[in-house]
Parts: sequence; C-alpha cells; structure tokens
Amino acid sequence: MSGPVAAAIDVGGTKIAVGIVDARGCILVQGETPTAPELGYPAGLARTSGVLRRLLHECGLSVDGIGVGSTGPIDPETGVYGEVGTLPGWRGSPLAADLGRLFDVRVAVENDADAAALGEAAWGAGRGSRSLLYVTVSTGIGVGMILDGKLYRGVGGAHPEIGHHVLDASGPACYCGANGCWEVLASGPAMESWMRARCEAPMDAAAICELARQGDPLALEAVRREAHYLGLGLANLVTIFCPQTIVLGGGMMRSADLLLAPALDVVKRICTQVPVENTSIVLAGLGAQSGLLGAACVWFHRAGLN
Ligand SMILES: [Zn+2]
Repeated sequence: MSGPVAAAIDVGGTKIAVGIVDARGCILVQGETPTAPELGYPAGLARTSGVLRRLLHECGLSVDGIGVGSTGPIDPETGVYGEVGTLPGWRGSPLAADLGRLFDVRVAVENDADAAALGEAAWGAGRGSRSLLYVTVSTGIGVGMILDGKLYRGVGGAHPEIGHHVLDASGPACYCGANGCWEVLASGPAMESWMRARCEAPMDAAAICELARQGDPLALEAVRREAHYLGLGLANLVTIFCPQTIVLGGGMMRSADLLLAPALDVVKRICTQVPVENTSIVLAGLGAQSGLLGAACVWFHRAGLN
C-alpha cells in the first residue's frame, strides 16, 4: 500500500463510526461504537480510541492523520465542542487535542455538514466542483459550503447557519427565535407538524410520503408544501451563490422521488437573474458511507492532499 492513509471518525448523536481510508476514498476497515453521550465524553473518547486501535492492528497500517466529522457546533480550529444539543455535557471537550495526544498524529475536525461537503466534492456527486453547497435535509437543515475549492468559514471560524435563513417571516416559530426559517418550513419535523395540525394520527415524514405515493390528498398536499419550501430555499442559494453544484443529502432525500422534481421547478421559475442552468442540483452520491468518507476528507483537505 502506498500513498497517504487517514483515520476517519464520524461522531453522531447515536453512534460513532471509525474507519481507515486511503487517498482514493476506499474504506479499508471500519467499526463503530455507540455514542452514549450520557456516559460522558471521557468514556466516549476511550471507546472511540479503542475501536481505532483495534482497526489499526487489524490492517497493520499506521495513519498519517485523523479526520473527524462531528455533529456540531465544534470549533474547526481548536477541535473543542460547543453546546451540542445531542451531546449534553460534552461542551468544552478538546476532541482534536485528545486524539492527537493518544495517536501522536495531526487531527483535523469539522462539523458533519462541512465534512459531507468535502466528501461529496472529492469522491461523490460533486466530484470536481470548485463551488459546491451540500444541503442536508433531515430533522433540521444544514449546509456545508465549498467556494473556490475551499471550505467557507465565517468570521472567527463561524459556521453559517443557512437552515435558519428566513423564508416567511409570518411562518411558524423556530427554536432559534425567528419565524419561518427554512428548516422550520422544509425539514422532516416541519412536514410532520403541518400534518399533525390536520390529521388525528401522528405520522413521521416517511409515513406521510408513503401515504402520498398511495394518492392520499392530504399527504400529497403535505408533500407539495414541503417541496415548495425546499425549492424556495434552494432558489435563494442559487441566486446568492451561483454554485456549480448543490448536493442534497439527509433522511428526507429518501423521498426524493416525490420532492426533487417539484423543488427544481420552483428553482427554475424563481432564479431568473442568474444562469440557473449552470447549477447542477443532484442527490448525494456517497450514501451510507458519506459520514466516514467525509471525515477522512476533512484530514486530506486540511493536509492539502485533495
Ligand atoms: Zn430558526
């Protein structure tokens, strides 16, 4: 085996995936451990490093660095956790420094949307794009931005929160304090709460979409509304950034058969002031491996290797 090899760690709210990945995007070995955030950060770190040690032993390789994609906020420069809703009590934990000390290599950390953006640009649906926005639509909406081949950061390393740009100031209240944010109108829970207000039986977004496929008029209306707001937000991104590629991922895209075409119609109709035909809006290409490959890319990108 020649060429650089990275360890990849993908920290989610329920599980932590660990892998060893080469510079072509092949996962050589992988494993996982529950995140179990309630047991505390030191226990999570110990389990994660235990999995990584086992994998390194299994494949008999040493790694050139460690890339981490994590549910955020996490500071990309210091690798220290902020207040993460799904990781209560982990605030202030120095993940990058701890991994660097345990494995004696450089560690690069990004939040999971930025990691996925890097992965899709290197090895996925946005391969070769110099400007790419990765939009994940699930329980919320997150966006990772690559502009001119580089991950975009705001002032002080801040991650822009595009899921909270306002589409309808008279819309439903969002936990962030504003009304009518993109994610309060177009996430999975947005669709669920719209349906809950009109139908006795509680249903998750996947069940609503299934009902729509069977022709249920109310479910079809919920899908039409979801696609409309998804499209409005995407249209804003096209108008503001004129990116080469927008990659769509996240759990809601399992219903892309229902949502994508009407959302793209909205984009085409609204984006009259920019060359909208130059922007490709496509589904994510890395599927279930998106977390690990994105995490590996965090290190390769930081090391200047892709
Ligand atoms: Zn909001």
